[in-house]
Amino acid sequence: MAATQAALYFSTTGRFEMSFLAFISVIALLAMLPVLWSLQRTAVAGAREFATGCLLCIAATGAMTAAAALQMPLAIVLGHAALTVAFVFILLGYGRLLDLSLPVGVFVALAFAGGVTGFAITLGGHDSLPARMIVIGGLAAMLILAAGPPAADRWPKAKPVMQVAILAAAAVACAASVHVFGRPPHPSAGVAEAPASIAFELSLAALSALLLPVLFFAVIVTVQNRVIAGLRVAIARDGLTGALSRGALIEEGERIFAECLTHGRPLAFLLLDLDYFKQINDRYGHACGDMALAHFADVVSTFLGERGILGRIGGEEFGVILPGHTEEQATALAEDICRTVRETPAGRAQRRIRLTVSIGIAAAVPDDTITDVMIRADLALYDSKADGRDRCSIARRHQIDASSLALAAAAAQLRAADPLREQHLAQTA
Ligand code: GH3
Ligand code: MG
Ligand code: MG
Repeated sequence: MAATQAALYFSTTGRFEMSFLAFISVIALLAMLPVLWSLQRTAVAGAREFATGCLLCIAATGAMTAAAALQMPLAIVLGHAALTVAFVFILLGYGRLLDLSLPVGVFVALAFAGGVTGFAITLGGHDSLPARMIVIGGLAAMLILAAGPPAADRWPKAKPVMQVAILAAAAVACAASVHVFGRPPHPSAGVAEAPASIAFELSLAALSALLLPVLFFAVIVTVQNRVIAGLRVAIARDGLTGALSRGALIEEGERIFAECLTHGRPLAFLLLDLDYFKQINDRYGHACGDMALAHFADVVSTFLGERGILGRIGGEEFGVILPGHTEEQATALAEDICRTVRETPAGRAQRRIRLTVSIGIAAAVPDDTITDVMIRADLALYDSKADGRDRCSIARRHQIDASSLALAAAAAQLRAADPLREQHLAQTA
């Protein structure tokens, strides 16, 4: 008698908690809906489908919770139908987000299968132990899958079998623990199944209530991660030439510098400045000048391949980081760059724009920073310009101090007011 009363109490408490959990789930979805709706403004695919799916889930879950409380079976059926349509949108959202080129019919069939399974579970189609294991295991697996997309970037991509094995093991462990911990220590006839059943019902309610909020939360995090990654790429790249931006080059340079220093590897830096570029603008127009800059960056980065990293320092000045290069190796490479640029004019056959580049070369010495090699390369670049341009010069190994900083600034100024340039201007006028 006492056992029956206890079972009745637990069962009543279980029901209360089930509707309470479903209510919490609706509140969580309501809080996420405006965020999901606003994600449609991002260029990330699938945001519209997820927002529509979330709206339908709120309507369906809300209707089913109210229908269960008011004992309206027809409303429960309609709620399941709405949930099935919501799943179609959610699956379509995943299809677009993950760029899966599957026909819409596949998503509809999957959602329909999910809807029918959910309805069967609601009607109590889980009375045997294996059926309960499958239901809880399946829900646990769905929950892990739903939380998956933001974690997917961090998965070891080379081992998909590992991922499936972890997912399956977690789902089975979850199903087994519900039944093992739900059983009474001394089962007696008639009540042996009751506590297990309560544990099952509560786990079922908790997992179902968690599933949709976790799914939409994971979608929000995934879309945000993609937007942030896109912005990072946009900031790190120079829009005109596709080379790294100045900030990204220095940041990357600091990282590579530390790596080379740690492993005792050499490193060199090249500072490249296109010759007489102002005249290219004056003669061919600014738009052609832009095209020539993009062409130059393309030629240099194609030539470099994996050997170095190209960044645009500003205007027609570029930097190249060469990890693992000694001064001699960097000099040979810089001379090849000069030759390649000279031999690869920009523009089409009728309107060839000849380009030449001057390069300053600086190899890193112990205790150098990226700024030190950049300053030395700048001083060497001045030598290349002063010696007639279209050539490379190696930085002298003097220490970087306040006077060389001033010298570097003066070198930049001198380049701007160079007598050779005046001469070139007069010749080409
Ligand atoms: P030098 O051989 O001494 O380097 O001569 P220069 O004419 O290349 O040097 P200067 O620094 O006087 O001129 C650089 C020119 O590059 C001036 C500027 O109009 C042009 N420039 C800078 N950025 C851009 C750009 O994004 N697009 C175009 N078209 N021109 C640019
Ligand atoms: Mg120049
Ligand atoms: Mg310049």
